[in-house]
Amino acid sequence: MFMIGQGEQVMSVGPPEPHHCPRCDEVREFEPQFTYKYGRFDLLFGFVYGRRYQLACPVCQHGWLLDKKEAERLYGRPDIPLRLRYGLVFLLGVFAALGAASLAMPPAG
Ligand SMILES: [Zn+2]
Repeated sequence: MFMIGQGEQVMSVGPPEPHHCPRCDEVREFEPQFTYKYGRFDLLFGFVYGRRYQLACPVCQHGWLLDKKEAERLYGRPDIPLRLRYGLVFLLGVFAALGAASLAMPPAG
């Protein structure tokens, strides 16, 4: 039986930077974050989508999106769990292998 789940992960990727928050109307320590959404099959394999970098106000969560290339240069590439990062590739490989096997062995009769 397949269990399918999904979620969203937020990771801090660098030291906080002071910025003026227009919503709080005060200077806050904005935290650079990397967020991604993921889907999971059976708790083992998954896939990642909706990756983005953002600066978020710690009080009201107001924030800005950051340019991906610029953020990766500043903070480095984030660490996404391997089974999420390559899960879809793995699943496609399994399906391809099953397809090849069924072609190689046509049903008897
Ligand atoms: Zn704020």
